[in-house]
Amino acid sequence: MVCTSDTHTVAGAIGDRENLTLGHEAVGIIYKLGSAVKGFKEGDRVAVNAITPCYLCENCQRGYTSQCQTILGGWKFANLKDGNMAEYFHVNSAQANLTPIPDSISDDVAVYTTDMMSTGFMGAENANIPIGGSVAVFAQGPVGLMATAGARLLGAGLIIAVESVPARIELAKKFGADVVINFEETDPVQAILDLTDGQGVDSAIEALGAQKTFEDCIKVTRPGGTISNTGYHGHGDYVKIPRLEWGVGMGDKTIRTGLCPGGSERMKRLLRLLEQRRVDPTPMTTHTFSFDEIEKAFEVMDKKLDGIIKPLIIFGD
Ligand SMILES: [Zn+2]
Ligand SMILES: [Zn+2]
Repeated sequence: MVCTSDTHTVAGAIGDRENLTLGHEAVGIIYKLGSAVKGFKEGDRVAVNAITPCYLCENCQRGYTSQCQTILGGWKFANLKDGNMAEYFHVNSAQANLTPIPDSISDDVAVYTTDMMSTGFMGAENANIPIGGSVAVFAQGPVGLMATAGARLLGAGLIIAVESVPARIELAKKFGADVVINFEETDPVQAILDLTDGQGVDSAIEALGAQKTFEDCIKVTRPGGTISNTGYHGHGDYVKIPRLEWGVGMGDKTIRTGLCPGGSERMKRLLRLLEQRRVDPTPMTTHTFSFDEIEKAFEVMDKKLDGIIKPLIIFGD
């Protein structure tokens, strides 16, 4: 699948990259297996998370596998090595990063575990949602939609989504939002405070990567609550924190950040959710392209044309 991160990569958000194959969301069939990789055989159908940590370095051993070796260093495809929008791609530390796909799950469904489900659910997990608690999710792109679904799975009692695009508003409701605030019609901060008796939410999830939504997350989170950032803040030198709503630095508001968690143990759990039909991400697949049309898919994703949410790229027939 093409990811908005791929278009950010092309735009230089992670610095200059040359002669590097794009792509980090893919499933495939094992073509050749290294002699050290146990428990798999050539021909197995597998999912590979966008993030492929080494599981050996100090940060991995400390439990921060997405920060493998260095900050964001778990992200290797199309960042530190060739990505996987290709007929063949190499999986490092394969023993830990290959996950068999159960027969009952087709490729077009399984591919959502490689980034959107893992990242979106991480947004909800990092938000420390109390059972029955209130959550605001800012932006309902594919990551925000999966954060909404994740909040629902984790037992949130009130899920408030913030979005303006009609098709995304509909999907937000489908994935579990109880209320959707259209920020073009209503001030989301005031609306969220009104919905929570002026208290604010227990948890706010930032799923866009913009100053305004990040600030709003801090403004709508009650003391003791958690702001969970999944958005990719690709511009400027600083992200500013609203001082007063932050309790001038003493408001007991936690800000958590993270990058798509990888590894086969997590991938197995994500695939289990698909197998048990706890969630069906496929309504997000708005477009399908053949591999030959990949440049077109990129353009549609980059410019967010034609109501696109996620484009699926298919090899062969
Ligand atoms: Zn992605
Ligand atoms: Zn590592």
